[in-house]
Amino acid sequence: MKLTVQDSSENPEEQVCKAARNDYEKRFVGETDFEKLMDEIGTAEYDEVPENVWEQRDGRYANTVVRKMWTLLTHLVEHGHYGPFEHPHITFEAKGVSRSLMAQITRHRVGITFDIQSMRYVGFEDADPTPGEAVVQIPELEDPGICGRNGEFSDAYEDQDDDYILEARRREYEAAMKRSFKSYRNLLEMGTAPENARMVLPIGTKVNMVFTLNARTLMHIADMRAAADAQWEIRELTEKVLEKAEEWMTMTFAYYNAEMKNRKNRLAP
Ligand SMILES: Cc1cc2nc3c(=O)[nH]c(=O)nc-3n(C[C@H](O)[C@H](O)[C@H](O)COP(=O)(O)OP(=O)(O)OC[C@H]3O[C@@H](n4cnc5c(N)ncnc54)[C@H](O)[C@@H]3O)c2cc1C
Repeated sequence: MKLTVQDSSENPEEQVCKAARNDYEKRFVGETDFEKLMDEIGTAEYDEVPENVWEQRDGRYANTVVRKMWTLLTHLVEHGHYGPFEHPHITFEAKGVSRSLMAQITRHRVGITFDIQSMRYVGFEDADPTPGEAVVQIPELEDPGICGRNGEFSDAYEDQDDDYILEARRREYEAAMKRSFKSYRNLLEMGTAPENARMVLPIGTKVNMVFTLNARTLMHIADMRAAADAQWEIRELTEKVLEKAEEWMTMTFAYYNAEMKNRKNRLAP
């Protein structure tokens, strides 16, 4: 899979701070200089602010303002004042994820919007069913062990060596994919509409998606989908999303990644 950022709110952390200051300010945030709005916020120690925040800062804010932003942003997250994080948005383009992943991520309804590549207007007649091409490669084709919590060997496979297991899995997986794609092509040739012929394509068929979400939703989805019990592919996507998010909102996601990730879902318990 590949993940790219199409677009994102500019100055997202200033946006969060301004929204939060609005709640406790007599002054109108629209008429008050940002530095002045941050006057009353405590100044964090220089070394409380993570290294990568200092490395990535672009000189827009004075050191003291960065330290105040750190105080405010981490305070908001720690105290569950998540509303201000709903203002900044980011749009991702995901290439080559499975339709299984798509079914999981599109269960999220709040603060996220999707566009999904069509199987009606995009034909798969030339698609190559080799794992890693038109269908995703699953980890069990490379790793003879069990991936995730739910795998189990039957008696027939329990005592087999790694090469035997890998070979057997690859043969089974590849044969199933080839059969499906061949039937799909045959059905098209028999005059079946693509939106109906697609019924025989596997859930592992790759799809491209564009999705836009706000920073609060991003943290909520990461709470659920970066967790150890989430499926490997959606976990992989979530890790990539979090990496990009840390480049976009460095203070917020440096804090999230260090202090909140892999803990119990806190954003929408
Ligand atoms: C490991 C794992 C396994 C899963 N297995 C299954 C499964 O087997 N079958 C299955 O169907 N689903 C499964 N899911 C999906 C899960 O049940 C949720 O539907 C999905 O993760 C969307 O999350 P969300 O409810 O937080 O929705 P979001 O759309 O992300 O909503 C965010 C938050 O808004 C609030 N909210 C949104 N809509 C409502 C509403 N209508 N009423 C009240 N509050 C609302 C909730 O607090 C919610 O957490 C699984 C998820 C995970 C992470």
